[in-house]
Amino acid sequence: MTMPRDRFFEETPFFTDEHARLAAGVASFAAREVGPLAATEEEGDADERFRRLLSLLAQADLLRYSVARGDAAPLDARSLCVVREALAYYSPLADLAFVMQGLGTYAVSLAATEHVRDFWLERARTGRSIAAFALTEPDAGSDVSAIQTTATRDADGYRISGRKCFISNAGLADFYTVFARTGTRGDGRAELSAFIVGARMPGFRVVARTRLVAEHPIGEIEFADVRVPAEDLIGAEGDGFRLAMLTMDMFRASVGAAACGMARRALDEAIHHAKARRQFGVTLAMHQLIQEKLAVMQTELDAARLLVYRAAHLKDNGASGSVLTRAASEAKLYATESAQRVIDESVQIHGGYGLVRGHPVERLYRDVRALRIYEGTSEIQKLIIARELLKE
Ligand SMILES: Cc1cc2nc3c(=O)[nH]c(=O)nc-3n(C[C@H](O)[C@H](O)[C@H](O)COP(=O)(O)OP(=O)(O)OC[C@H]3O[C@@H](n4cnc5c(N)ncnc54)[C@H](O)[C@@H]3O)c2cc1C
Repeated sequence: MTMPRDRFFEETPFFTDEHARLAAGVASFAAREVGPLAATEEEGDADERFRRLLSLLAQADLLRYSVARGDAAPLDARSLCVVREALAYYSPLADLAFVMQGLGTYAVSLAATEHVRDFWLERARTGRSIAAFALTEPDAGSDVSAIQTTATRDADGYRISGRKCFISNAGLADFYTVFARTGTRGDGRAELSAFIVGARMPGFRVVARTRLVAEHPIGEIEFADVRVPAEDLIGAEGDGFRLAMLTMDMFRASVGAAACGMARRALDEAIHHAKARRQFGVTLAMHQLIQEKLAVMQTELDAARLLVYRAAHLKDNGASGSVLTRAASEAKLYATESAQRVIDESVQIHGGYGLVRGHPVERLYRDVRALRIYEGTSEIQKLIIARELLKE
């Protein structure tokens, strides 16, 4: 299926002509290069497919939309969202390959020393090194302050010990942005700092790769007294929590954009099927109960896109603090929850065909589930929105 013409760019005030051109360009690239690879998902070597997708993204010079430069040119949140939406329409795995390069390097772009920063950003942007973001631990998921991994200062660097789980790209990544405890703050909470840890550093180990409901390279990693030079501390000691939250402010709405891409694909598949499939002497599209489903799906998708691009537009126009945090959380919450509903309805419209292993909507049904959990669960988004509302 090829993405139909999209009037959203003309109908809404969030974009420049460049965004519209980018969206059209990425959609045609993804239809040509990514779509055929997505059709082979679940077959053969998943790591190999991931590397191939990353290399295609690098060749098309698309990674510059997720990897910040770290100088006076900040990431453009709308471009990040536009690319994620188009890639996710064709392949959620391609979207993952794209965004992890950014998620794993954003803190580096903000605060690493210049030569360390330029080295890793260039490698990430050209796809020569694979990046990862390592925050979650077995006993610290939503509650980041419970992190147990420690970084202890020694003569000219730090020694990191601990374990992280659910780390996307574990086993594939060449380097990880790792959040570790460097002390305890006055209020008794963990003082977190961020470090770059290379996958070849002695003491670093991938403990296990974890198989999820859908294709997604992920696993558990361990640091057994890993020695990290002082220059690989990102920013100052104690900056870790702030850097993690700035990363979320940048990328959270873009999870909603990926959800919109998946929901759009599910809706297009549903419309196509409803127009072709005949039951009771007419096409499914002629039945009003099916029309009602399509109408609600389209309305939810439009609402989700409006929230996502409002948040991205705010970010690009310099919003920060409460305004941005709330907009990004609303976008992520609504877009991921509504995408789940849209995809579920698409499966319903497809009937039994929607459950056949490998059908696009069957794959979307599995792919979309993770989005309500990572980068802050839906419950955590609600808590953030309420907190920001109540302090206004
Ligand atoms: C596909 C995938 C990719 C991921 N990639 C990464 C990655 O690259 N790097 C990384 O660091 N992490 C990653 N994660 C981890 C992810 O960020 C965590 O799974 C997420 O933050 C939730 O933590 P948890 O799974 O431990 O659940 P928990 O925090 O244990 O939460 C379990 C349930 O309780 C709810 N809950 C928790 N606290 C509250 C509360 N105060 N009030 C109400 N409800 C609450 C949650 O919403 C959830 O429904 C990934 C996870 C997945 C599934």
